[in-house]
Amino acid sequence: MKSKLPNSGTTIFSTMSALAQQHGAINLSQGFPDFDMPASLVSGTSAAMASGKNQYAPMPGLLSLRAALAEKLEQSYHHYYDPETEITITSGATQAIYTTIAALVHAGDEVIVLEPCYDSYIPSIQMAGGIAITVRMEAPEYPIPWDEVQSKIGSRTRMIIVNSPHNPTGSVLRDSDLAILSELVSKHGIFILSDEVYEHLIFDKRQHESICRYKQLYNNAIAVFSFGKTFHCTGWKLGYVVAAAAIMKEIRKVHQFMVFSSFAPAQYGLVDLLADEKYFQGLANFFEAKRNYFLRLMESSNFIPLPCHGSYFQLLSYPRVSNLRDREFCEALTLQYGVATIPVSAFYSDGFDQRIIRVCFAKQDATLAAAATKLRAVVKI
Ligand code: PMP
Repeated sequence: MKSKLPNSGTTIFSTMSALAQQHGAINLSQGFPDFDMPASLVSGTSAAMASGKNQYAPMPGLLSLRAALAEKLEQSYHHYYDPETEITITSGATQAIYTTIAALVHAGDEVIVLEPCYDSYIPSIQMAGGIAITVRMEAPEYPIPWDEVQSKIGSRTRMIIVNSPHNPTGSVLRDSDLAILSELVSKHGIFILSDEVYEHLIFDKRQHESICRYKQLYNNAIAVFSFGKTFHCTGWKLGYVVAAAAIMKEIRKVHQFMVFSSFAPAQYGLVDLLADEKYFQGLANFFEAKRNYFLRLMESSNFIPLPCHGSYFQLLSYPRVSNLRDREFCEALTLQYGVATIPVSAFYSDGFDQRIIRVCFAKQDATLAAAATKLRAVVKI
């Protein structure tokens, strides 16, 4: 059959999770927590189901939830998005990304993608008939090579995708990055799709540079978020997208025919939690403590941690341990030592391999301790 996505196979996340299960390994590969979500979100959602809130939500999402999000965004980023016209609830950030690209990218349009990147970006562009123009970021700091970005922007460029805090590297954008981005956008009139699913998971006293903060970007910016990351419920696949009304109008045209609306009971459950500012403030400390705990445990290991200022991922390089390519190394680590991780080359379309692996530290301390004990035992592979 003539495939529309000839280069897409089973994702590395499914492959590594299956391998972890098959070999009884500790799974630090896929990005999901192994601890509980807030009990009040479970009870609020259960109560909504018990009281019959089980029919279609409005197409753009429950209005009370969108209104609560408008308030939260204004408090965090000092910009008011109109819940009626500028916020849409989606079935996860992945759907928000796909829908936005489908709505805005025309056949033949170019989209700048900074690699390594979350694996849905490029297939979403290709499904829209667009062309992904990749720009490579490299270890250890993974800065955006802005000169190269600039050199790749031309008359066919429609959009640039940015992600901060970043999966898989844990790097975060600075205000200096946003200044350059703003200049490029105003000069070339392109869209910015900003993937901010880890907005609250930011460490070392850094500030999350949401594009929502930058008024001059308002007419070109689309930001996507994930309830799954913020409330430890990745399996719920709920998120949202925010943009100026004229952009959102186009996004909703696609959204209504892709999913129409997203799981209703959880939208009722989420409303009350959004007012809890303390919860959001606590998230950064909670995950920073996990990163620090894992790093402390790994101090006496043969792995070298790379800088991580956000997200729930820590990168490790392994020059003292092995010459294997990262995919083979991850397989060997799972089979021989019982810890599943992700090879960073999987996040580059050309498989660029700096022999670095990604560990998800959104795990109970006991899980991290058990995994670190196994990783400390690794001498040569
Ligand atoms: N963007 C990034 C950078 C991610 O890491 C993820 C989840 N792994 C998503 C988007 C998707 O979020 P969701 O589960 O809400 O679709």
